[in-house]
Amino acid sequence: MSSGPFTRHRLNGCEEDGAFTDPLTGLGNARRFVDKVNRLIADRADDPAPFAVGVLDLDGFKPINDLFGRKAGDEILQQVAMRLRAAMDEHAVVTRIGADEFAFLCPMIFNEQAAIEKAKMLIEVLSAPYGVDHRTARLSASAGCSLFYSDEDTTDLLLSKAETALYQAKRAGRGKVMAYTREMEEAAKRVTRIEQALRRAVAAGEVKPHFQPIVDLATRRTVGFETLARWHDGDLGLVSPEVFIPIAEERGIIGQLSQLVLRKATEAARDWPEDLFLSFNLSPSQLVDHNTGLQILAILECTGFDPRRLEIEITETGLMSDPASAEKIIGDLRRVGIRVSLDDFGTGQSSLGRLRDFPFDKLKIDRGFVASILEDRPSEHIIRAILAMCEGLGMDVVAEGIEDEAQALRLVEFGCTGGQGYLFGRPRDAEETLDILRSFDQPARTQ
Ligand code: C2E
Ligand code: CA
Ligand code: CA
Repeated sequence: MSSGPFTRHRLNGCEEDGAFTDPLTGLGNARRFVDKVNRLIADRADDPAPFAVGVLDLDGFKPINDLFGRKAGDEILQQVAMRLRAAMDEHAVVTRIGADEFAFLCPMIFNEQAAIEKAKMLIEVLSAPYGVDHRTARLSASAGCSLFYSDEDTTDLLLSKAETALYQAKRAGRGKVMAYTREMEEAAKRVTRIEQALRRAVAAGEVKPHFQPIVDLATRRTVGFETLARWHDGDLGLVSPEVFIPIAEERGIIGQLSQLVLRKATEAARDWPEDLFLSFNLSPSQLVDHNTGLQILAILECTGFDPRRLEIEITETGLMSDPASAEKIIGDLRRVGIRVSLDDFGTGQSSLGRLRDFPFDKLKIDRGFVASILEDRPSEHIIRAILAMCEGLGMDVVAEGIEDEAQALRLVEFGCTGGQGYLFGRPRDAEETLDILRSFDQPARTQ
């Protein structure tokens, strides 16, 4: 930094003080960052030009640490720091403010769009492979930015706005950048409101399982049910699992929620005919938590539900964040006879390698393909290819989201054996499910 707004502060001794430096990377630390922003705000008092701050967080750094070891993890962080520093222009500064979190200050960036461009460029720079111990690691990162517009924007506020934007970027998936908006604040408040209500509901046992039938497509016989969590809050009304499950994951409530729902579901399923299986969704974060397997087994023990009647559904995302931990949990569950399905196949980060490495008993074809099977040639081909692959690998298969007869007929024609969707039944609570089961004409069970 040879010129620019900071030049006149360079002789200020405390800047070289160790208290302002991150020992691992040699970058400034969080204190340095705050100090720099404070000074720039003071500078801009007479010249109120905007400037940008950003926070950048590495996606999934912990598994890299686990996989490559701490020392290699440290080396990667040093390389990250070097790349970020090299990507700063003469006015800008980057510091390390957390284990895998960096903050940057760009005095010459004056609007959100330019801040986003800058952050995207940084993420791009970080995406090139890292060499450690003759191996290569890859990283992605997410970032949030905020702009200083007036002296109402204090350093704390700017950082907290950038963190809010980072949080929204992370929620949108890996490798994303966002700039702060007021709506984000509202969204963040809503999430917190839902989190509070959900904590209370889980403690009070108010989240309930509903059950959706899974059928043998050829005979239409119900062979099992998928458990789907349902939550009705007094103030918020019915909240969709697509909203509350991700919040439960993020805020660390998913373990308790899941145990509650599994306990209630297995209690309900004990009264069903014994040849029906119960299927249950596990969230990605549960496959990172080593206690998950033991907790499931303890619940089965307690409710007396036969593990051989239980299936767990996991997604590829669940396997990716920490494959070693997922493998261990899945191994524990399979040992007692629990079957494992790969859910939502064909969306997200599908990888055929995963099918080779993990022993799945069943694959569920995502409803996106089923929805377009009649109109869309590519979907038809993809479904046929998936079915052929399942046959080759000896996996059962269930097509999800079947809504009309024509879709079911086409799937049977392609050789798909299992089906699930509104055509065969919507998710229903324990009582209604039992009533439906009782009304079946046994033993030829049809809907
Ligand atoms: P999923 O595992 O893919 O579950 C299937 C979703 O598709 C369910 O939505 C179900 O109601 C819906 N569905 C079923 N048949 C049809 C159909 O014919 N057409 C259409 N359009 N939709 C159909 P739901 O219950 O809203 O659940 C959404 C997601 O929330 C689930 O997706 C699952 O990922 C998650 N989830 C639900 N309950 C739990 C739970 O207890 N634990 C965990 N970890 N995740 C859960
Ligand atoms: Ca599922
Ligand atoms: Ca699914």
